[in-house]
Amino acid sequence: MARIFGPVPSRRLGLSLGIDLVPCKTCSYNCIYCEVGRTTNLITEPSSFINIAETIKELEDVISKSPPDVITLAGSGEPTLNLDIGALISEIKKITKIPLTLLTNGSLLWKEEVRERCRGVDIILPTLSSVFKKTHDMIHRPHPGLDLDRIIQGLKETRKLFKRGYYLEVVLLKGINDSEEELSGLKKVIWDIAPDRVQLNTVVRPPAETSALPLTQERLEEIKAYFGGNTEIVAPSPIKGRGNISDSGAERIFEMVKRRPVTIDDISNALNFSRVETEQMVKGLKIKGIIQEQRHGDNLFYTSK
Ligand code: SF4
Repeated sequence: MARIFGPVPSRRLGLSLGIDLVPCKTCSYNCIYCEVGRTTNLITEPSSFINIAETIKELEDVISKSPPDVITLAGSGEPTLNLDIGALISEIKKITKIPLTLLTNGSLLWKEEVRERCRGVDIILPTLSSVFKKTHDMIHRPHPGLDLDRIIQGLKETRKLFKRGYYLEVVLLKGINDSEEELSGLKKVIWDIAPDRVQLNTVVRPPAETSALPLTQERLEEIKAYFGGNTEIVAPSPIKGRGNISDSGAERIFEMVKRRPVTIDDISNALNFSRVETEQMVKGLKIKGIIQEQRHGDNLFYTSK
C-alpha cells in the first residue's frame, strides 16, 4: 500500500510530503471537525502498521524526483498510534536532511514511551482546543481511557524535549470553544506550555459533523490579538507546488483526495499542474466514478468515493 502522499500545500508547513502511518481511520479521537471523516478504529494502544523498509524505499524514490519543503508524519489518523514511529524517524534521518515534522493530536504524549519515540522529529505540532473536559469531549469525542488533565501534562512534558519547533494548534469552532471563558482558560494553559508558536485554526474543509462550524476571519483576528505574542492564524498556503508532472497525474490526484477533501487549487498547487490540466484530470476521475464533488460554503471540494 502506498504510504507516501502529496506533496500537498499545508496551511501550517508549506509544501509537505506526507507519510500515512496508520490505516484510515485509526485515531484516539473522533473529532467533529475531522476532515478525514469519523473514526472507525478508536484506540489508544499503539500497534505496528507499516513495513519500514518499504516505506523508506518509497520515500527515497519520491524525494529524489521532487523534494518537498518538509516531510510530515500524519495522514488518515493519529500517527503516534504507530508503534514503529521511532524506528521510522531514525531511518528517515539517515536518508535526508529535509525537516521532519509530526502532526499529532497530542493525546498520547503523556506516555513517556510515546514522547521518546517522537523526539527525533524537527517540529512537533500537537493540538489543544479546550481546557474544559465537557468541551474537550464535545469537540474530540476521545477514547474513554483518555484524561484531559493528563493530556495537558503530557503537552507540558513534551515541551521539555522540544526546545525549538513546538507549534501548538488550537482548533476554534463557532459556539463551542470561542467564548470568553474558553479562551481565557486556554490562554493560561498555553502560557504554561510556552510553545514556539500558537496556530489558530478553524473548519476549512468539509467536517465529520455539520455541528462543527468555522469562525470568521475577523473573529480569528480578535482571538489572535487576545492570545498575543507568537500567535498566528494558519490560512490557506499561497506556496506554489514543485511537484513533478508525471503521466501518473491521475493516480497522484487520487492519492490526495483519498486522504482529505481538496479543491482544484489545492491539486494544481501541489502537483504543479495548470488549472486547465487539473480540471481535465479531475473531470476524468469524476466521470469514472472514482472521486466525487462536495460543496462546503463557497468552495467545491473533491473526495474519494
Ligand atoms: S482531526 Fe486528527 S485527531 Fe481528530 S479525529 Fe481526525 S485524525 Fe483524529
